[in-house]
Amino acid sequence: MAQCEGKTKKGERCKRDAGAGSGFCSIHVDQEVRSRKEPTAEWDTDSIMKAALGFALVGAIFLFRFRR
Ligand SMILES: [Zn+2]
Repeated sequence: MAQCEGKTKKGERCKRDAGAGSGFCSIHVDQEVRSRKEPTAEWDTDSIMKAALGFALVGAIFLFRFRR
C-alpha cells in the first residue's frame, strides 16, 4: 500500500499507509481536499507572465481590429 502524502503537525511526511483510492490516510484526507481546491498554488511567476503576455497579445489584436 502507498504511503500517505499528508504532512504531520511537525511538517514531516506522514508515515501511515494511504487509504484505498486515495493518496492520504484517514487523518490527512482533509489535506487532499485542500490541495484540490487550490489549483492556483501550482502557478509560478513564469506561467503567470506567459498568461499575462497571452492576454495582452489577444487584447492588442482586438484593439487593432476594432480601430480599422
Ligand atoms: Zn497521513
